[in-house]
Amino acid sequence: MSKVYLVGAGPGDAELITVKGKRLLEECDAVIYDRLASSELLKYTRAECVKIYVGKEAGHHSKTQEQIHEIMRKAAQRYQKIVRLKGGDPFVFGRGGEEALFLQEQGIPFEAVPGVTSAVAVPEAAGIPVTHRGICQSFHVITGHTGDGGLTENYGLLAQLGGTLVFLMGRSRLGEICGQLMHYGMDQNTAAAVISEGTTPRQQTVRGTLKDIEEKARKAGIKSPALIVVGSVCALPIRSGGKRLGVTATAHTAAKLRTLLEEKGFTVVETCNMEVIETREAENVLKKAVQPDVRWIMFTSPNGVRVFFRKLKEGGAALERLSEKKFAVIGAGSREELRKYGIEAHFMPGQYTSKALGTEFVRSVRNPGKILIPRAAAGSVELTSVLAAAGCDYEDLPIYDVKGKLAVGSEEMERIQCHVFVSASGVNAFFDEVERKLSDYRFGGEIACIGEATKEALAKRGYRADLVSEVHDAEGLAGSLEKYYAEGEKEQKA
Ligand code: SAH
Repeated sequence: MSKVYLVGAGPGDAELITVKGKRLLEECDAVIYDRLASSELLKYTRAECVKIYVGKEAGHHSKTQEQIHEIMRKAAQRYQKIVRLKGGDPFVFGRGGEEALFLQEQGIPFEAVPGVTSAVAVPEAAGIPVTHRGICQSFHVITGHTGDGGLTENYGLLAQLGGTLVFLMGRSRLGEICGQLMHYGMDQNTAAAVISEGTTPRQQTVRGTLKDIEEKARKAGIKSPALIVVGSVCALPIRSGGKRLGVTATAHTAAKLRTLLEEKGFTVVETCNMEVIETREAENVLKKAVQPDVRWIMFTSPNGVRVFFRKLKEGGAALERLSEKKFAVIGAGSREELRKYGIEAHFMPGQYTSKALGTEFVRSVRNPGKILIPRAAAGSVELTSVLAAAGCDYEDLPIYDVKGKLAVGSEEMERIQCHVFVSASGVNAFFDEVERKLSDYRFGGEIACIGEATKEALAKRGYRADLVSEVHDAEGLAGSLEKYYAEGEKEQKA
């Protein structure tokens, strides 16, 4: 005997399906799904499971409810265990009740499996509790449009309820809904919020009041699926979870960023690990460094400092052999690393970029003598071209390469809300790896980077950085991220 399970898929985040729902997906012979149910959930099904899509396709209309009923009926004839997967909870505005009645009339055994409804979960994910002691005693879930496309008539009543109002399917009628509520006497300053693609990495929230929320949502470009929340609970200062940041960096930098960012309430996921690999040239570090004509040694990254001193040590050289040399560093990170070897940098530019290192160095150091630059193989020409133009004698010594290795799968990647890059090589490694290994992943989320070189590497690959740190080190980047997201919230609330 076959059986149809009307399964709630949850609000968007694939982890918000119930344990029972997931088990049924794993076991079923056929699954009938539509647009709202996360397609990510289909990975739980067996390879033999027949997947039937009944949602909207680009350029086509969705199937009618009658067609869906017919598809279910046919599936029940052919397969044993059928999952009819429905977004959120099957019995909340999903026409799940109609499907249940149809199956019952047809004598097809069925069972409804509850799901987490977007009506409660989406506001929650945006930090809005639908009830709150002392603020409201009830919440009401309302459709933004009725079957015939008109607004529900009882706005007079809704405006008097005093509870939180949650409108589903109301994005296109947001202005009308707010207008009606104000018309029936609700204060125009009543707090309101619109949340789209809630609980997914693409979640977007706009906060405002009945008076201005429509304009704000329009300016923010909020699209469907979205829900509207009206009530004072929208003004509570709850910021749930914190942003989920994906970091591409070496283990060393990632650990540093993690500490800095977690302190600020972010969740940090290392998405791509950068490994530092010594080049053959690295074997020449000792020989090159002790050359008498080399008067300056210039570092452009903490990695360079680490590899350089590791090679010196391996070569059995005492640090005293460098006592005559002077050291230039690109920024605070390299300066700190150098201090670990008991050396205080003699030069550091005001701005932490390759270009600034070059220009400020040639401006302030007269007759520098020969400059040795132990750095990454893919080091920027910005530095060397400035040195060359100033007639400096320098030697570029590529002592390491960086290679990226993806540390997470598509599923985890999907959940990243902001990708953080600290080097141009990291940008390239990340996208190379993603293209090679995550064919089912569609890049999404915001992008933050440490400085101009990273920003340009992103641009070259067709991505725009949403945030470029003004101070180009881990602390600066962490501070910028904190400020960026704090301001975003304020702006939306104001
Ligand atoms: N049965 C579903 C609701 C189906 S009606 C449930 O219980 O959640 C579809 C409407 O739900 C959409 O128009 C939108 O208003 C809302 N919705 C569903 N998922 C959403 C999400 N992730 N973010 C915002 N709104 C969502």
